[in-house]
Formats: sequence, C-alpha cells, structure tokens
Amino acid sequence: MRKSSIILTLAFCFILPLFGFHTTAQASGFTDVPKRALKEVNYLAEGGIATGSSATIFAPDTIVTRAEAATFIARALQLDGKQKQTVFKDVAASNPSSGYIQSAVDKGILSGYSGGRFLPDKDVTRGEMAVMMSRAFGYEFGGSLSGAAKALTSRGIASGMEDGTFGSDKQITRVDFSVFLARAINPEFRMKQTASFKQTFWVNTNNLNVRTGPSTRYSKSASLQKDVKVVSSHEVGSWVYIKSANGTGFVHKSYLRNTEEASNSRPGEDDNGSNPGTIGNADPRLANQVIILDPGHGGTDPGASGFNLREKDVVLDTGLKTNELFKKTPFKVYMTRTGDTFPSLSDRTKFAKSKNGNVFVSIHANASNGAGNGTETYYYSSAATNPYVSDSKLLATKIQQRMLDALQLKNRGVKPYGYYVIKYNSMPAALAELGFIDNAKDNEKLKSDYWRTQAAKALYLGILDYYKAKGYQVDSLYSAAK
Ligand SMILES: [Zn+2]
Repeated sequence: MRKSSIILTLAFCFILPLFGFHTTAQASGFTDVPKRALKEVNYLAEGGIATGSSATIFAPDTIVTRAEAATFIARALQLDGKQKQTVFKDVAASNPSSGYIQSAVDKGILSGYSGGRFLPDKDVTRGEMAVMMSRAFGYEFGGSLSGAAKALTSRGIASGMEDGTFGSDKQITRVDFSVFLARAINPEFRMKQTASFKQTFWVNTNNLNVRTGPSTRYSKSASLQKDVKVVSSHEVGSWVYIKSANGTGFVHKSYLRNTEEASNSRPGEDDNGSNPGTIGNADPRLANQVIILDPGHGGTDPGASGFNLREKDVVLDTGLKTNELFKKTPFKVYMTRTGDTFPSLSDRTKFAKSKNGNVFVSIHANASNGAGNGTETYYYSSAATNPYVSDSKLLATKIQQRMLDALQLKNRGVKPYGYYVIKYNSMPAALAELGFIDNAKDNEKLKSDYWRTQAAKALYLGILDYYKAKGYQVDSLYSAAK
C-alpha cells in the first residue's frame, strides 16, 4: 500500500537533524515539574496541549481524570474544544471539557459507560491511557489492554513497571500522561528511535512551514519549496510528521499531495470482485470510479447501542449488503472493514486515499438516550481539509433522499459537521446516520434484515443519483436495487 523510498532514506542518514525539542521547547514557567519530565511538559505547554492550574503550578503528581485525558488528547489532535452539548448526562455543556470530550468520543478515541455516563472525574489507569493513545494515534492494538500496552512499549513511548508488568490497572499521573503523549506526538522524545518514514508525499505549495509540533503554536524550523519530496511517518490530527533534506518536523497535511505530478492521474488498481460489463450500457468512465464504503466502529468499539443491538453490527451488515449490490456494476468498491475489526479513523481515511477513492460513504447509527429519532446525513463544509465541499453536499443530499424513501423515518436533514472521516478526507464524502438505535421505532428497523437491505439499496441508489447528477450514464444500474 505504501511506497518506501530506500534512496531517500539513505540520503537522510548523512544529514544531521537541524532542530529538535532541545532547542525549541520553550520554558513553560511551571515550577513543580520534575526535571526528568521538563522537556516533555514544556513541549506540550508550548502547543497549548497541557496546561496547569496556574502559570507556575502543573500538579504533576495528581492522577489524570478522564476529562483531563480527553482534553490533552483532543488538543494534541486539534479537535474542536468549543463547549457544547454532549451525549452524556454527566457532562453538561457548561463543563469546560464538554467540547473536548464530545470531540474525542466522536473520533472513537474515548467512549462512555452504560446509562449514558462518561464519568469525567474518574481516574485514568495506565491501561486505559494506552488504549486512548492507541486509538488517537492509529496504532493497531487488537482491542486489548495488553495489545495497547505493547503498541506503546514497542514504539518507545512507555516502558513497563519495575515488576516487569505494564501496570495496566495502576493510575497514571498528569506528568506521566504528558510524557507519554509528548512521545506519541514527537518521536524525538521516545526512548528509542521508532519513527518509520514510509509514505511519500510532494509539497504542494511554496514556502511550506515545517514546525516542531503539530500546530501553528509551535516554532518554525524549516521551510520547504513546492514539489519537494518528503516522507512521512505518522499523522497527528491534520498534521504530518515528515522527514526531508531539512530534517524532521510537522507540516499541515493539506499542503501535501500523494502523486509526483500535480495532475490527478490514476494508476491501475486491483479491484475486489467488481464485475465490469455484467450490466450493459453503463458509462465506460465508471470503471475508473472508486467507491469507499466505511461501516463505522467495529472490534472493541461497539458504537452506539440500544435494545441489545450494537451499531457496529448494524452498519457492517448494511455496508456488506451495499457492497454486494455494487458487484454487478463497473465501479470498484473497497470497504474499510469487512469484519468485526476497528480500523482507526485515520486508518480509514488513509485507506480511502491510498485507493484513490472518488466517493467515500461512512455508515453509522445514531443514539441520544432515546430522545432522538430519524435519519440524517452529514458532509463537511470547509475546503481547508476536504476540498470537495459542494460534491460532498450533493452526495449527502442524494443519499439522504434515498434513505428517507427507503426507511420512512423522520427527516433530520442534510447537515455539515466535522466528523473525522469526512473532514480529513480528500474526496466527496458523506456520513449517513441510518436511524437512532436507542429509539424504539428506529431500532425496530435497524434490527431487521429486511430494513437493513432497504438501507443498503438506498445507499446504492443515492450513490448512483450522485453520479447521474455529475453527468454519468448510470440508468442501466438502477435495476440492481429493484
Ligand atoms: Zn457511529
């Protein structure tokens, strides 16, 4: 999936890093942080990620609460921290962390407890921290505490306790949490060199600022010119950690392209069982069109639930049924998951981009403590991260209309919102919320195989409607959903 560049990597071996945390992390002014963690805490403070109770007090030995953990991680990933209504009855909009908590939950990094509670003041354990970090940074961890612990230790982000265990059930202090977070963000803090620069990009703008951390709060360390080749190791929110001839650092993802040529040439791809020509008279251009279906959640992340039904199961089945409908069309269709697994949100968008997707449809079900009901579809409305605003809205509108026809649930409309998989994407993208899993009426439909088949047909037809509106000849394909 990723191209490695051996020549480029060799070339970098002879270049000394031109900058690092030791020269750039500004002193934060905290007087109570132990020396062993000063660089890391200062680094997070410089980015506004970790804050103290005052300019001088960091309270390093206080145990991290779930609200604090959500805040630190959400700030690191540049998630929206604006205070807002949350889905949890113990996190009011007036809670200073409400925005961070809801954003982190929306991204699948944290989840709530039964009864619609988040328990914001609950202490965080080392094991929970490892799971949060694994999800936030897209580490594969197999859904277990031990897997998450291994994901961190193997990367030199955390080490075990003196007794040889990871101490998963031990509480974690603010200072230790900060050290681990700094190491996850910037490999220069790690206990060993584990950044692996694998994916190649080209700079798509002039004078691109390289920074020491993933936000414009961090100091500039270098500047890159248009068409310069860089290699990346990992993403932190919408920033990418890259290596170039000028050293390592962070650049904003929107200024990179993944093809050498600025044009959008599309190499041949293997497909997953599409069967061109089964349906006659379809537009020949469709054979080059790639659709990404993204059933939400999965694995350790059940998503919403209600009446003994889990979102991850509903949306996977619906996605598989939709994929089935496309098999007799010329489209190439890829799914971000085909089983009960949990690809991280960045895995999903990376996958979509690696397949050169033309359309991305994420499938979800809603929940709101039984209070809400109906069908809604989202698109992302700022071209800063996903340039395809009008096409995304068109796609969402077509899908919403077909879902209303098919499911006959309340129309909650087509709405803009920054869900990760549609925001940090680079193709027309929509996120469909089929219905409310915790509403009795909607749940009746979501749990029914018949209605999930109708939902799949609606997604299929909505995508065809989108292509038709874009001027493609798709009429012969509608019969597959009769
Ligand atoms: Zn969902």
